[in-house]
Amino acid sequence: MSTFWSRGLKAAPKGDVLRYQVELDDPYGHYLKVSLWLGDVAAGQQFALPVWIPGSYMVRDFSKHIVMAVAESQGQSAPLNMVDKSTWEVAAAYSQLCITLKVYAQEDSVRAAWFDENRAFLNGTSVFLRVVGRESWPCELTVVAPKHPALQSWKLATGLSVVDAPEWGFGKFVAEDYHALVDHPLEMGNFSVLTFEACNTPHAMVFSGSYDAVALNRQRLIQDLVPICEKQIQRFEPDTARPPFNRYLFLTHVTAAGYGGLEHRNSTALVCAQKDLPCGNNDEAADEHYQQFLGLCSHEYFHSWNVKRITPEAFVSPDYQAENYSVQLWAFEGITSYFDDLGVYQAAVIPVDAWLTQLGKTITRVHRGKGRLLQSVTESSFTAWTRFYQQDANAPNAIVSYYAKGCLVALCLDLNLRLWSEGEVCLDDVLRALWQRHGVTGLGVPENGIETLAMSMLPTHQQELAAFFELALHSTEDLPLGDVLSEFAVSLNWRAAGSLSDAGGKEVPEWRQWFGASWRLVAGELEITRVDIDSPAHRAGLSVKDRVVAINGYRADLDWAQQQLLQADAGDKWQMALFRGHRFMQKTVELEPAPKTTAWLGLNNEATPAQLRRRQEWLQC
Ligand code: ZN
Repeated sequence: MSTFWSRGLKAAPKGDVLRYQVELDDPYGHYLKVSLWLGDVAAGQQFALPVWIPGSYMVRDFSKHIVMAVAESQGQSAPLNMVDKSTWEVAAAYSQLCITLKVYAQEDSVRAAWFDENRAFLNGTSVFLRVVGRESWPCELTVVAPKHPALQSWKLATGLSVVDAPEWGFGKFVAEDYHALVDHPLEMGNFSVLTFEACNTPHAMVFSGSYDAVALNRQRLIQDLVPICEKQIQRFEPDTARPPFNRYLFLTHVTAAGYGGLEHRNSTALVCAQKDLPCGNNDEAADEHYQQFLGLCSHEYFHSWNVKRITPEAFVSPDYQAENYSVQLWAFEGITSYFDDLGVYQAAVIPVDAWLTQLGKTITRVHRGKGRLLQSVTESSFTAWTRFYQQDANAPNAIVSYYAKGCLVALCLDLNLRLWSEGEVCLDDVLRALWQRHGVTGLGVPENGIETLAMSMLPTHQQELAAFFELALHSTEDLPLGDVLSEFAVSLNWRAAGSLSDAGGKEVPEWRQWFGASWRLVAGELEITRVDIDSPAHRAGLSVKDRVVAINGYRADLDWAQQQLLQADAGDKWQMALFRGHRFMQKTVELEPAPKTTAWLGLNNEATPAQLRRRQEWLQC
């Protein structure tokens, strides 16, 4: 038996327990049967399905996929009444009660539930009813081996403790309470497993979906993931090198073009594209796709501390039925975003210039959007539910990402701490203090807790830190990135974009002109997908969803239009013929000089000895 599985073995809970069961009933109809047994039910007892999943801050109303909810007690039907969109109630008292849900599972994302003849993926928030008032009771979960002939060879992977199930098999599992039950996703199907150890702790990566199992370079993955995991463990526990879990599971679903992840207490659900996984020989440098995948693994793994255990007060006992507000997502996502790629570099998996490229792209992402001048990162955090998670085409003009700008705040905070303390204090120290004070104890972080803690760690510079936090967290002024980086012998350079796909981070030839809109090809026509505020396209009256059919009298096909942009100059006038819905319109766009909002970073080896020494301490280069 693999150590990953055997490390999870646990005795069945005694006494009060909630018993859940999942049956994989109908893969073609995508139906799961999910049952819950409990005793001593009072009249008026309520049962609720969460409306959101922690880590993804949007109301998703998972109950919309419950196609049937029935209850029975000792063979007799027990009436179940709906109280609101996601809550049921029994009118009478019962000594024994069983509630059964029929769940339609066909949302292919890390946040919901999926079931077909190829795989099943379950998040507890999509399928397990919360027994209101019994959130702290232990939960036993039985996942029944599927009887359907198409699913006979299926396996099961989860970070849940195992009461009685063969290795990677179906059976009985246990969670200490409801919060734990819904924080352990389950993957089922014919997946493959990669196991390794980091800091003497068993880890496993499970691959499902469409990938080339033969070409997958497993040795390379292990070679790179081990130091990344160990780097993050040592960051929080430099003395003991002990992670806060006894095993860790990466559930990786490989698709044609997906990307994303969701963090859990001892696992993560990832989506990546085939091209993100390593297939070459071991000595090749990681390409940008594989770098992105390693950054994603590093990011979700870092969340095991930062957000899963060091948690905003508002998320410690989450309200599963409504939005939970915090201004701190800049820290829980932004600090995580700073240390994800940095961790990959510090683990010696990518060279420093690859990391600087990633950072340059993040700076570019923030600075190309005028939304940064309208919204602070704390406002972005607070309104995540309706704005960051429900972006429309105007989002770059209206909001700032608490991930991207939060990453830059973390960078500036780290460098300011290093500068003002003359190398005595850095952001790692703040993280370790947060870990001891809030992670180990389980005490939530109050809304200004990180700022207060950082200031207490540098009493000689409290005023400077307070001013920095005011600017970085509560204002819409740009961060002093160039000045701060120059003190660490890194130069921040600005240029114009060089192509429509130019995400920044590198020095490339620039465009001379600025059009100010993006497009994509839809049914042979150019559809406008984004119009930058205060740009030539905005001034000319172009709008998102306009279908451009001709430019300067010629049919606007994609390659030709890209070529025209490449050859154009500031001052050129473009006569654009377009349809807005069924209405034909003509617009004249006068191209302007390209703004320098694309960033790239370089090592400045001409810097002063003090600056070079600081860079050495920060980046070991
Ligand atoms: Zn994250």
